[in-house]
Amino acid sequence: MDFRGATAYTLRDEIAAGRVTSVGVTEAIFHEVEQRDGELNAYISLMAESALEKAREVDERAKRGDALGPLAGIPVAVKDIICTKGTRTTCGSRMLESFVPPYDATVIGKLRAADAVLIGKTNMDEFGMGSSTETSYFGPTRNPHDPSRVPGGSSGGSAAALASDEAILALGSDTGGSIRQPASFCGVVGLKPTYGRVSRFGLVAYASSLDQIGPMARNVRDCALLMGVLAGYDPKDSTAVDAEVPDLLTGLDKGIAGIRIGLPKECYSEGLDEAVKSAVLGMVERLKASGAKVSEVSLPHTEVAIATYYILAMAEASANLARYDGVKYGFRAEGTKNLFDMYCRTRSEGFGDEVKRRIMLGTYTLSAGYYDAYYRKAQKVRTLIARDFEQALERCDVLITPTSPTVAFKLGEKLDDPLQMYLSDIYTISANLAGLPALSVPCGVASEGLPIGLQIFGRPFEEGTVLRAAYSVERVLNGNV
Ligand code: GLN
Repeated sequence: MDFRGATAYTLRDEIAAGRVTSVGVTEAIFHEVEQRDGELNAYISLMAESALEKAREVDERAKRGDALGPLAGIPVAVKDIICTKGTRTTCGSRMLESFVPPYDATVIGKLRAADAVLIGKTNMDEFGMGSSTETSYFGPTRNPHDPSRVPGGSSGGSAAALASDEAILALGSDTGGSIRQPASFCGVVGLKPTYGRVSRFGLVAYASSLDQIGPMARNVRDCALLMGVLAGYDPKDSTAVDAEVPDLLTGLDKGIAGIRIGLPKECYSEGLDEAVKSAVLGMVERLKASGAKVSEVSLPHTEVAIATYYILAMAEASANLARYDGVKYGFRAEGTKNLFDMYCRTRSEGFGDEVKRRIMLGTYTLSAGYYDAYYRKAQKVRTLIARDFEQALERCDVLITPTSPTVAFKLGEKLDDPLQMYLSDIYTISANLAGLPALSVPCGVASEGLPIGLQIFGRPFEEGTVLRAAYSVERVLNGNV
């Protein structure tokens, strides 16, 4: 059977009603992986055996008429930075090439309880550090729309898997745009939830004050469905917030009429591709025609957001990655002379260049003498950035910007110029600095046939409003308005 382009929400009901089998869907997905992943390299590890076992179980329960979870029988891909008990979790690094976690991340437990079928672990930039999936130890992932281009990153494997029918739903993680930018480059939907909305327990830490796990999907309703499963308090994560999770599916089609949209003027100026700009602003015009109220707002500290983000993210990374010392778990260099030599060679051989660059810069900004000038100052600017958003979101319900200043770029194009790579995160990083929910949804196609993503920011814990606005964008794009 052909399940290309199938939606999770209809498939789930078909499976639960016994009209379609989860085994059939799962086998079709693995068939697609076999056909395409040799070229795309979206997966680092596959979980064929356990996936089919789960699919068979779901089918049997469906046959008996048993109650089934909200993701019953649906194949889900998981970014390889999220711990899966018994299946290796590499973070795209040689350091964790054969690390098999002894426990599941909280979100994995939730997927299992929702009767999802976990199909594999997706490729990513090493430890989430990158915007192209090219820093992976396991080789780059390619963009299904044009294999000479990157899928974005760091959750590039998850985005490419969705765009190539190698998965129906996927998990990503987002520290500075790693869910949204690849979603934009691959023409899928990705949501970074409010900080604290989804448990980080079992998410391998990159920059803990910025990291969030979030849903990726091929349409907004599927994204809302998966978000509903992931969200919620978790006593195992001290930063998880104990706030009620509303039903994200029912309000989805309420429309855009009356919603106040803010356009931050700093996000539509220099450095933005004309094609991206006109697709995003063209969509905003059409939302206005459907009754949205549009006004210009200002986020005055946008200019310093990249510098602030990279100081804080690297500082936190340098502390978090200190744990990879060859002693407790992960890679250990062979034939070392003494303890110092073992630490030194393990880290030299186990980490790639980008990770090392960040550890060094992070260590520098945290060192005595430089701490006040860099780290403490960046913390203060972070507060100013958060205040910009707070003020803008007092007058508006959502803010709309491009997700990325360009469409997917060529493999290798920015690899030797880290600053250019960092600049591609200009519109996404602020949501992490401010802790806000933000989503990328396709809003058009550039002349080369490459997808363009539109980003929607919301107030803290108002993922529902963000998803509702995104649903309107999707309807306009599909010509249903
Ligand atoms: N590209 C950004 C970085 O390299 C964001 C990555 C992410 O969100 N994990 O830090």
